[in-house]
Amino acid sequence: MIENLIGETHRPGRIEVVCGSMFSGKTEELIRRLKRAKIARQQVMIFKPAIDTRYSEEKVVSHDHNCIDSTPVKDTQTILKGAQGHGYDVIGIDEAQFFDDSLVDVCNRLAYNGMRVIVAGLDMDYLGQPFGPMPKLLAIADEVTKVHAICVKCGSLAYASHRLVKSHAQVMLGEKDEYEPLCRECFKKALEEDQRNARSKNLFEE
Ligand code: ZN
Repeated sequence: MIENLIGETHRPGRIEVVCGSMFSGKTEELIRRLKRAKIARQQVMIFKPAIDTRYSEEKVVSHDHNCIDSTPVKDTQTILKGAQGHGYDVIGIDEAQFFDDSLVDVCNRLAYNGMRVIVAGLDMDYLGQPFGPMPKLLAIADEVTKVHAICVKCGSLAYASHRLVKSHAQVMLGEKDEYEPLCRECFKKALEEDQRNARSKNLFEE
């Protein structure tokens, strides 16, 4: 259905959300859709949070180093200003979980102005809780795609990203050695194991 939109002369505004765990290929899917829009000679603009400087300041780069030019922005108002009035057909937003809830209103406004908005982000944080504005974006989206990594423990489809290093910060930028994709069952076991370890460590320290 998404594929059919490419090349339409009259494109109604719409919001597509691509979500999933770490290593699920959501940025690859975002890049794929944006590249196809470019091939169809549509004007494309891509934003990402300025916080995400893992690989490159100016590019959206996936873990497999596929990349596309992007603009790092500090907040959603900058997206709104940068996206409107420049004749863009398609707006891509990567790592959407790092923006605040005002992204919901910004995406709606762009879509009502006739733009195709494609948002990619982590649906859940390292504890399996809905991440930032993602649950609201999923609610207002015209179309939702949930992509899956593979569980590194058992080979099933992964459900969430388990953090391997001990930090309680919700925002911690991911590298391959800091997170592992796990299925629901293995994720549950891993969280229980983490809790046991934390308890025994506390007992030891008291
Ligand atoms: Zn598993």
